[in-house]
Amino acid sequence: MSLPDLTSDCMNCAALCCVSLVLDKGKMFAIDKPAGKPCPNLGGHLCTIHESLENEGFKGCTLYDCAGAGQRVTQERFNGESWRDAPELLPAMMRDFANLRPLHERLTMLVAAEKYSLTPELEERRQQLIRKTSRIWSDSPTAKEAFDAFIRDLRTHAGS
Ligand code: SF4
Repeated sequence: MSLPDLTSDCMNCAALCCVSLVLDKGKMFAIDKPAGKPCPNLGGHLCTIHESLENEGFKGCTLYDCAGAGQRVTQERFNGESWRDAPELLPAMMRDFANLRPLHERLTMLVAAEKYSLTPELEERRQQLIRKTSRIWSDSPTAKEAFDAFIRDLRTHAGS
């Protein structure tokens, strides 16, 4: 089964999390930052305080994982281009990243579901969902409904 990479790869990403996500000053982040503004700790596409995030007040960044959505949007939707060189790309990059990340989280859950010794029917649904979710770039009510139904049935199966 062909799966996108579900592990974040910052070297092949245009720092989409560090530019597109909102930071709220508090326990998790030392600063406020709106969506669409690059974090001041960003140097190019990499975090300049990566080794000391927690000490610098950015514990929230250590807890975040894009599940591979960042590099996939950068490479597959934008051919490796970046908002750094072409700022007009930023809104579309942010939109695609926001759309894809929940789908990659879903894929991560579907992959992990393999460990539950699934019935043939559940395993077939799991594989179908992985195939379909791997092909789409944004959610749809039908895709969400099918995933939610699978998780409900998986919970029943795991609890039985
Ligand atoms: S502190 Fe580093 S990891 Fe966190 S948003 Fe800023 S650049 Fe990104």
